[in-house]
Amino acid sequence: MDSNSVLNLLGREIVGDVIAPSDERYEEGDDIFYKEYSRRRPIARVEVADSSDVSKVIGFAGDTGMGLAVRGGGHSVLGHSTSDGGLVLDLSALRDVDVDVEERSAWAGGGVLAGDYTARVAEHGLVTGFGDTGSVGIAGLTLGGGIGLLHRKLGLTIDSLLGAEIVTADGEVHRINAEDGPDLFWAIRGGGGNFGVVTKLHYRLHPIDTVVGGMLVLPATPQVIADFVAAATEASDDLSAIAGIMVAPPMPFLPEEAHGQMVVVALMVHAGDIAAGEVEVDRFRRLSTPMHDGLKVMPYAEMFPPDEAGPPQPEAMSLRSVFSDEFALPEAEVVVDALRSSSAAMSVIQIRALGGAVSRIPNDATAFAHRNRPLVLNVAAAYESPSRRPEYEVWVGDLARKLRKGPAGSYLNFLGDDSEMSVREVYPGETWDRLVEVKSKYDENNLFSSNHNIPPRA
Ligand SMILES: Cc1cc2nc3c(=O)[nH]c(=O)nc-3n(C[C@H](O)[C@H](O)[C@H](O)COP(=O)(O)OP(=O)(O)OC[C@H]3O[C@@H](n4cnc5c(N)ncnc54)[C@H](O)[C@@H]3O)c2cc1C
Repeated sequence: MDSNSVLNLLGREIVGDVIAPSDERYEEGDDIFYKEYSRRRPIARVEVADSSDVSKVIGFAGDTGMGLAVRGGGHSVLGHSTSDGGLVLDLSALRDVDVDVEERSAWAGGGVLAGDYTARVAEHGLVTGFGDTGSVGIAGLTLGGGIGLLHRKLGLTIDSLLGAEIVTADGEVHRINAEDGPDLFWAIRGGGGNFGVVTKLHYRLHPIDTVVGGMLVLPATPQVIADFVAAATEASDDLSAIAGIMVAPPMPFLPEEAHGQMVVVALMVHAGDIAAGEVEVDRFRRLSTPMHDGLKVMPYAEMFPPDEAGPPQPEAMSLRSVFSDEFALPEAEVVVDALRSSSAAMSVIQIRALGGAVSRIPNDATAFAHRNRPLVLNVAAAYESPSRRPEYEVWVGDLARKLRKGPAGSYLNFLGDDSEMSVREVYPGETWDRLVEVKSKYDENNLFSSNHNIPPRA
């Protein structure tokens, strides 16, 4: 039987849709964040309607040997959620969010996007913390840990995960939480998409509505950068901040004289007493003369404006992530020098202070095992042609190594390298061994391998 006939059979078995190349809905368009991957040609994209469809697609992929990629929000930095010639299991139809206001929890579908979830629960003055961008899929982000704008107050996104529905490689649908399926529940909290397809996520909701937050842009001298990182690390647990150091592109809210200057573009949220928040964010304003000051009292959900164009979608990107124990003036000088010498269309060093609620949970409680590290640094270069990747891979790799102080360690969600050596840096020591155990139990044939892979035991 040819592949079209086989796909027709699958189409008849499921409630969702098999979208083959002949279908006008086939083109990936903006569903894939990094443009170079949106030109890949999977044999078909299967838009599943429920967990039973997911079981059938998993069985089909296992029987036919077609490679399987799993798609939530399409933001994988390595294009793991699409392929050339394989099957894409697309969760974009699973977008329900059911809020239980009394219990302060929500069940959300595996294809829900962070901005949509945030807007939905904000109707009740409630929140779950995700990342800094509304178009990212909640499942992909959660499976890696989840570091965003509330982590010092509420912990990582996985710390608000109460349970999940997951379909494993044998097609079985499991409802898991700390009591039922604790090994699987431990593994999906940081272990990525290695263990199955998550069709539903159950989150704790927190009563946070109005915050002091927004964007602040400062001139990026080494001193200002170092002072910013110190202030973010020393701030109260109510404040979480992300500092992006870059040469300013012509952003509409920046005065023209700022374009082309080295800047700190900071996103921050203080989720506590409003008066205390005003005082805390003021410390950052006073580090220099702001080029843009968008800090204000606002509903948290405004951090993800629905009608605003999202971040630019780069053609190609090289990205590394390191946990680090120290960032002071010498490291800030390294950052400024490296950015000045970069030939990429856009280079950014992003610095996020951890600590707070992240660090109050033991490292072995989940598969995210870097809770004791005070900082995570992401080094990114975006460029026009994937043919220049080798050059920028060296640039991001060298800079990340220079900036790392303390033991090796990477954050899955910003790791643009899926060699086993790099994936092992995400999972130090016993975490790796434990993940291999769980992988071997639930996916012994490595069906879920289009990811930062944890191979089962041979
Ligand atoms: C602009 C931008 C901003 C970001 N900001 C942050 C941030 O602030 N904090 C942070 O922690 N991360 C951030 N990330 C990283 C992001 O969390 C990861 O890239 C994440 O994997 C994206 O998930 P997705 O569903 O959108 O992507 P996809 O490409 O759809 O999925 C990525 C991988 O996740 C797995 N996966 C996704 N959904 C499922 C599912 N339902 N079941 C099983 N496996 C699944 C699969 O292995 C898949 O290959 C950002 C990324 C971008 C591009």
